[in-house]
Amino acid sequence: MSKGRPIRTARELADAGLIDAAAEEAISHVASRYAVAITPAVANLIDRGYPDDPIARQFVPDPAELTLTPEERADPIGDGSHSPVAGIVHRYPDRVLLKAVHVCPVYCRFCFRREMVGPQGLGTLTTAELDAAIAYIETHSEIWEVILTGGDPLVLSPRRLGEILERLQAIDHVKVVRFHTRVPVVEPERIDADLVAALKASGKTTYVALHANHPRELTAEARAATARLIDAGIVMVSQSVLLRGVNDDPEVLAELMRAFVEARIKPYYLHHPDLAPGTSHFRLSIEEGQTLAASLRGRISGLCQPTYILDIPGGHGKAVISASAISAEGGGCYTITDFRGNAHSYPPKGQ
Ligand code: SF4
Repeated sequence: MSKGRPIRTARELADAGLIDAAAEEAISHVASRYAVAITPAVANLIDRGYPDDPIARQFVPDPAELTLTPEERADPIGDGSHSPVAGIVHRYPDRVLLKAVHVCPVYCRFCFRREMVGPQGLGTLTTAELDAAIAYIETHSEIWEVILTGGDPLVLSPRRLGEILERLQAIDHVKVVRFHTRVPVVEPERIDADLVAALKASGKTTYVALHANHPRELTAEARAATARLIDAGIVMVSQSVLLRGVNDDPEVLAELMRAFVEARIKPYYLHHPDLAPGTSHFRLSIEEGQTLAASLRGRISGLCQPTYILDIPGGHGKAVISASAISAEGGGCYTITDFRGNAHSYPPKGQ
């Protein structure tokens, strides 16, 4: 079990051997712009002898983050344009995001909400703001699912989470409560009996969506933490971001998806990276992403297939962007491409 304080400054990164002392000043500039936190569990996972380590790339700041490109934007998925009250994003009819907290145990260098999370971010909802957010959910009977995200909701104490869940429990039309988190991977010891009990609201179904991007993140400790959630009756799904230098490789991606399934976590979303500020060094082209997503078909079990999606900039929601396997030929005929890349007519010709 990894205990101790997270690494938060350039000096601490240098002391931990995660950056060269010569890079300290440049990294300080990045750290003053975008929050840094690396938990002991993550620091232990980083291979210091490997300069391109995919875990380090996700969490150790890089001077490239200060390079902005014209297409990048502070709110890449348009949360702000769908926020009727503080802490609520109501983009789709039957579900809302409830962003109670904008703090995370780690700060991912590619984070799509990097302008909102961290010590300079939007903070934690005040009691009055949380009351207004819950009142919004109460008065909108079309809301079937509440997704707690942020920030990482599992940084809240079991007591605070229990209070929120108790209030959602009292709203009849809410049937599903979902948590988006990195905690089982980056701070697995936090998933203890009290936290697991707090996540379950009587009469509701609890889902936990685990964010992980590389198979090495699914350590024995992480798998034990997710097992504690699943054994308690919580359903788990995954979400991953396609990232250059982390998982832009068919073998790595296949291993990641298999690792989820082996841990009883259903692969759910594979996100195309968002246009977050200072993240161009992580982005791939849509064509590269489509090729990678298609490489999973046939290579690994159907259980291991995530849906490749893009959040349309401006708040227009998610769209599936995988390459289509079917094209219309007219007259009710189609060409379908199999997982080996071979084309077939549908209905079959000459029969
Ligand atoms: S845990 Fe999620 S919200 Fe927090 S920094 Fe990482 S991607 Fe952003």
